Amino acid sequence: MNILIASSEVVPFAKTGGLADVCGALPIELARLGHRPIVFLPAYRQVERAGVPIEPTGIEFSIPIGSRIHVGSLAKSRLPNSDVEVYLVRQAPFFDRAELYREHGEDYPDNCERFVFFCRAILESIRLLDLPIDVVHCNDWQTGLIPAYLQLEYRHVPRYAKIASLLTLHNLAYQGSFWHWDMLLTGLDWKHFNWREMEFFGRLNLLKTGIVFADALTTVSPRYAQEIQMPEHGCGLEGVLRHRSNDLTGIINGVDTSIWNPAIDPHLPTRYDVSNWQQGKRDCKRALQEELGLPVSDRPLIGLIGRLAEQKGWGLIIDVMRTLVARSDVQWAILGTGEPEFHQALGELSAAHPTKVAARLQFSDPLAHRIEAGSDLFLMPSRYEPCGLNQLYSLAYGSIPVVHETGGLADTIVDLTAATAADRTATGFRFRDYRSDALLETLRRAIDIVIDRPDVRGQLVETGMTRDWSWSRSARDYQTVYERLVARRR
Ligand code: ADP
Repeated sequence: MNILIASSEVVPFAKTGGLADVCGALPIELARLGHRPIVFLPAYRQVERAGVPIEPTGIEFSIPIGSRIHVGSLAKSRLPNSDVEVYLVRQAPFFDRAELYREHGEDYPDNCERFVFFCRAILESIRLLDLPIDVVHCNDWQTGLIPAYLQLEYRHVPRYAKIASLLTLHNLAYQGSFWHWDMLLTGLDWKHFNWREMEFFGRLNLLKTGIVFADALTTVSPRYAQEIQMPEHGCGLEGVLRHRSNDLTGIINGVDTSIWNPAIDPHLPTRYDVSNWQQGKRDCKRALQEELGLPVSDRPLIGLIGRLAEQKGWGLIIDVMRTLVARSDVQWAILGTGEPEFHQALGELSAAHPTKVAARLQFSDPLAHRIEAGSDLFLMPSRYEPCGLNQLYSLAYGSIPVVHETGGLADTIVDLTAATAADRTATGFRFRDYRSDALLETLRRAIDIVIDRPDVRGQLVETGMTRDWSWSRSARDYQTVYERLVARRR
């Protein structure tokens, strides 16, 4: 199959979150399965400077948006170490900017126009490059207009008539919501600005547009697929998602095992696998303690990595840290950047307890690898989590995850109980109610196991390290969805 993957972020060209990891890794696995994936993303300033060779194609297009005509062009590159074609939509006024979507805490005011241009440029490129596309796989609100254009403008054009559309929802909280006058920029008839199609509480909503017009929907875990059909996690779109529940599937993201693998990880002082993890992790823990200025000790070390956002559970974490640092001598290795209130709280905790708390409030990929390897437990109590990657990296690195039972965390971590200990399926610890006392109780349970029960700890680590979360498994699930869609279109 020829699969066009449209995304606003792709590793290694441009990244703000897990979306980029997915759109960089999935195409490579699809190519291994014998398909032809073709990736499209905007040529942001980061893309032009990513250090990957880029060449012009000579193809230009003029796209009318509102009362103006915008001229753009296509450049071409490849995903590293692969033959996967990547097309970059160049339009300097829209994409040659310092950031992807926002600067100084404010969204770019022309975001709607920028992504109308991106979506229209992709559809025109299919014709200009003479691409025989079977499926257009869209991702998040930035590409939500593509299914609408396919259905409303291109269906009668022979080349486009059989193209199926899939929209993957990576996080319902980001919807591409704009004031109603931006409807004029889409070029679609005002009659579609209604509550069944593109309008949401008086505003234009591009994620809802994609949900309504795509032939099928996926999200990044089966549990999140259920949760977003309920008010608590549906962000207002639960009704429209319930309406499409027969076309909605959850597919867990994979781990790129060429990058996240303790047996070959160049960032670690000692490499290890499931046969020698005890020695390997002991060495990595000691080196991490030295790197972070923590006393070298056998006491449990808890790792945390991620955006410092309320979604990731930092409110609970800080509550629990305040209780535990005073009463126990476990150590904390924290890596993250984000909201100022969490920077401040973590800064205060590490200043007050320098022998117990090391907080690095920055973005550092190498340190993220070393924390995964050097910690005994990995804490990820997200309030909601569409899939989550760090708990999967923790499993691979033998750092036992302690998670809130939500979304992808619930789907990937098996709680330690009498039954899961007996059948050796347990991989971590989960708590159900999103409350500090529930997290505290579960964390204490986990700490006790690490200190007092090396047998149980070993079982958890070894089960986690041998679970298969590779992309090949997820890519086969996407392949099944594509095949179903193509058959339906034909
Ligand atoms: P989300 O996409 O919601 O931010 P995920 O767990 O799906 O969360 O993916 C986050 C990715 O970003 C992971 O690869 C994680 O290791 C990485 N990451 C987040 N914060 C940092 C940081 N401060 N330093 C290094 N890597 C980080």
